[in-house]
Amino acid sequence: ATPTAIMVGTGLGAKRGVLFKNAMALEASARIQTVVMDKTGTLTKGEPEVTDVITDGADEPELLRLVAAVERESEHPLAQAIVRHAAERGLDVTRAERFQNVPGHGAIAEVGGRRVVVGNRRLAEREGVDLGPLADRRDELAATGRTAVIAAIDGRAAGLIGIADAPRETSQPAVAALHDLGVQVVMLTGDNRATAERIAERLGIDTVIAEVLPGDKAAEIAELQRDGRKVAMVGDGVNDAPALAQADLGIAIGAGTDVAIETADVVLMRSDPLDVPTALRIGRGTLRKMR
Ligand code: ADP
Ligand code: MG
Repeated sequence: ATPTAIMVGTGLGAKRGVLFKNAMALEASARIQTVVMDKTGTLTKGEPEVTDVITDGADEPELLRLVAAVERESEHPLAQAIVRHAAERGLDVTRAERFQNVPGHGAIAEVGGRRVVVGNRRLAEREGVDLGPLADRRDELAATGRTAVIAAIDGRAAGLIGIADAPRETSQPAVAALHDLGVQVVMLTGDNRATAERIAERLGIDTVIAEVLPGDKAAEIAELQRDGRKVAMVGDGVNDAPALAQADLGIAIGAGTDVAIETADVVLMRSDPLDVPTALRIGRGTLRKMR
């Protein structure tokens, strides 16, 4: 691109809080055919809230106390939502021992001599926990786009905690605008398939890659690039950094982690998904001026 075209493109972006780190980022934006968006914190607000506490006979406050004791040791956003909910209900949360974080799955610890496992279905399966009658309740939560956190106590499924994370107001219009540009939109998430598909459907996204382990996000991007497709990745988390680096264009949400912002080629200062199609349009405009 000519220096003038690059200056104009960079300036146009800056005015809208779309920061292109260099000329290559601007040129790559023009050629993107697929945009992959992380679900939590990118398409959604990343402010999960507990909406349901379902027990299988166990005492509800007691279940929450045990789960919150484990989650107090975790930094996961879902864990923080559970701890906040327990605090709002005025529950007295004790200390957990032998805490173990299981990335992409959940957490395990001992509370008052009991072994408490908190996480997704994969973790429950790994621990040999049978959901029993809670399986249907779990499916119901997922069907409404909520994440069901499974709690098992001493090897028995004891309850479910339903958590909702609302989509950002502009996620759906952003997907529509990308489709208008002829760009394929893909949702990438560690969350379970049914939950992810429900949210994707609401946003007009047709391709969902779900239940991806944190270390596997970059490989999923590489797979999409296989036949030479130019792929952009939009993310906010530490987990997203390798995928941002693998993509032809890494786009970080401004409210994201430092690692994501450092790795990205473009930073969206307003954390607005609508700025993704804006970035691609600025790139295309810049490229047209060079020809
Ligand atoms: P994402 O950030 O895309 O949701 P993660 O890889 O962090 O993906 O987690 C994948 C899934 O594992 C979560 O959706 C959740 O079901 C489960 N999980 C991970 N950590 C925890 C935790 N501390 N408590 C409860 N569930 C968890
Ligand atoms: Mg995220």
